[in-house]
Amino acid sequence: MDPKFYERYSRQILFSEIGEQGQQRLLESSAVMVGCGALGTALANLLVRAGLGKLRIVDRDFVEPSNLQRQTLFEESDASESLPKAVAAERRLNHINSGVTIEGIVADLTPQNAVELLGGFPLILDGTDNFETRFLLNDAAIHLGVPWIYAAVVASYGVTLTIRPGETACLACALESGSGNGERTTPTAAEDTCDTVGVLGAAAGVIASLEAAEAMKLLLGKFANPGGRLVSFDVWSGKYQSVRVARNPECRACVHRDLRYLQGDAQPRLTMCGRDSVQIHERRRQLDLPELGRRLAPTVAEVRENGFLLRFRVPPYEMTVFADGRAIIKGTRDTSVARSLYARYIGN
Ligand SMILES: [Zn+2]
Repeated sequence: MDPKFYERYSRQILFSEIGEQGQQRLLESSAVMVGCGALGTALANLLVRAGLGKLRIVDRDFVEPSNLQRQTLFEESDASESLPKAVAAERRLNHINSGVTIEGIVADLTPQNAVELLGGFPLILDGTDNFETRFLLNDAAIHLGVPWIYAAVVASYGVTLTIRPGETACLACALESGSGNGERTTPTAAEDTCDTVGVLGAAAGVIASLEAAEAMKLLLGKFANPGGRLVSFDVWSGKYQSVRVARNPECRACVHRDLRYLQGDAQPRLTMCGRDSVQIHERRRQLDLPELGRRLAPTVAEVRENGFLLRFRVPPYEMTVFADGRAIIKGTRDTSVARSLYARYIGN
């Protein structure tokens, strides 16, 4: 190994489960992470410092002041410039470890682009904040035949499960009814989100650390522990649980290969976590943002454009438009209001 690398990773090489060979293998490995919030930033930081060869980061959102309490890669200037998270994370991670290839992609993962964005990587990492995307990740991982690591955090509590399709329980085995009809045992509408009950950076840190260690084991081919354990941790109560999840012999996804989230019959208009907003996804519609900004300037307020997104206000709403045609409308949860604002200012 190059002496420069040897010095850099010496404390990891000394760890007998990794050693020089393991470190070399890690340097040649790669992963794709979807979602770069509290979990994603902590996880990317750990893996990039550990010397993963390449990390692709897919995120649809931009940095806001309320992210800074827990999203450890971002700084105040990222929030004041409203940088996309994938761009801000890529910049910061390049400074942390210039030997790692970081590829930040500003995009919303959808059934249409999932295989293109996730394909070619031996590991998929969950940094998302919603179950629609997680079930899409699960279906895509089964389709691609690669492992993925589910992780979620809310309030002081977090949970993670490593999924090796065909070997261990998948997310549908764990969260859908035993009959294999795809019905979820916990209605997601009733679930707490960081929008309603908040989230502690400390909880995200614990779960991201567990996820990072699992990622390293998978990339190094170390399956001494058979996986399939749902691990949960509450940093406030100190409660820790590790429960074995059995595969469902009638599982819709990993047994019968009904990959309905990937087939994507209906991609709903998404309401985002953390704010009063509706996202409108207009796929692959290239917009000329500076031109749009000039056109809108006489009729709307506070037009700002930073090369990645265009933002303006139509009181009481605020619209953020990305170059691919996607928009986030803040100030409403009503999809018809959002759709009509989109049609009026961006066009159909
Ligand atoms: Zn399954």
